[in-house]
Amino acid sequence: MPAETETSGSTGAAPWLLTPGPLSTDRRTRQAMLQDWGSWDADFKALTASVRSDLLAEIGNHPDFDCVPMQGSGTFAVESMLGTLIPANDSRTLVLSNGAYGQRIARTLACLNRDHVLIDKGDVQPPRGAELDDILRQDPTITHVVIVHCETSSGILNPLAEIAAVAEQHRVGLLIDAMSSFGAIPIDPDTIRFDALVSSANKCFEGVPGFGFIIARKALLAASEGNAHSLSLDAHAQWEYMQRTGQWRFTPPTHCVAAFAQALSLHRAEGGSSGRLLRYSANRDVLLQGMQALGFRPLLEPRWLSPIIVSFHAPDHPAYDFGRFYNLLKSRGFIIYPGKLTEVDSFRIGCIGALDSTVMQALVGAVEWALETMQVTLQKRPA
Ligand SMILES: *Cc1c(COP(=O)(O)O)cnc(C)c1O
Repeated sequence: MPAETETSGSTGAAPWLLTPGPLSTDRRTRQAMLQDWGSWDADFKALTASVRSDLLAEIGNHPDFDCVPMQGSGTFAVESMLGTLIPANDSRTLVLSNGAYGQRIARTLACLNRDHVLIDKGDVQPPRGAELDDILRQDPTITHVVIVHCETSSGILNPLAEIAAVAEQHRVGLLIDAMSSFGAIPIDPDTIRFDALVSSANKCFEGVPGFGFIIARKALLAASEGNAHSLSLDAHAQWEYMQRTGQWRFTPPTHCVAAFAQALSLHRAEGGSSGRLLRYSANRDVLLQGMQALGFRPLLEPRWLSPIIVSFHAPDHPAYDFGRFYNLLKSRGFIIYPGKLTEVDSFRIGCIGALDSTVMQALVGAVEWALETMQVTLQKRPA
């Protein structure tokens, strides 16, 4: 991994991106973009078909599901899923939110004029099965539930299995924003009942940005004709056209798809999602241990921490300044993420991308140096 991303890190031109995502990609993935493709050509159609089938393999090739790629960033694919699969009339969607991406889903539904209710758990608490059960009992008009699997704004890993079980009991549809988890945290439709999930090329599959994809029940896709609010984000039309012609409806991000096919083969070589989960978890553990030893406090209780991204409280010290901290780390070859929380001052460090725990160890060293340079002293704790 690091050997392959030889242009990343402090010795090369490009820094490590600890920002999911875009994130640091493997050199072989970037190299796959050096070829041009005709979007209607049989070779590119075969590439699209292989990407779709590899993604379906991620959910065990469950025969009830199909995969619809969609141009744009992840948010475009979320909007496509919501607008296509939630009927415009006679639906009422419950959004279980605990961060910026949950809020974005509610805003999207508002833009699409879809009737919805928002449960906002703040930044650090997950929605739980028992409270979902209460809400669904009190409001039998709710037809759909939407949840973010890993809420990337804090890094919280929401208890998906528990939520899915309650949604199934109440026979409501479950739509999952699995943007930052799919590809590293397995979602098996045999144990987690859901209607659709959405993710994108540039998160745990370690591709480059340019498209997202919806994995949805074929029966729902088939029943959703004419539902979408939008011409270009109509997932039913994209699905139907792709089935018929093998092509994307409008110009596909050809180079991104080629890079993604390469990224998928690296994902397979690493042992698929379980191999990737091991590496990301090791990244998270080295990061957490090192940062705690320096005196940083993670935002979340340990049991909700994801292996995707970790939020830390900003140091409570007058000499600390995020802009300066950021620039010091950048000068050492690391790009980190500002906080995205409403209530507390924080910053985030991503654990995903083509990097391993030696990079995390080096980052911790750079953080220690940055604190010294800023003359910020923290209460140190033993590692
Ligand atoms: C990255 C991400 C998205 C999509 O964001 P884009 O900037 O549109 O790619 C949506 N939901 C979650 C949870 C994410 O992590």
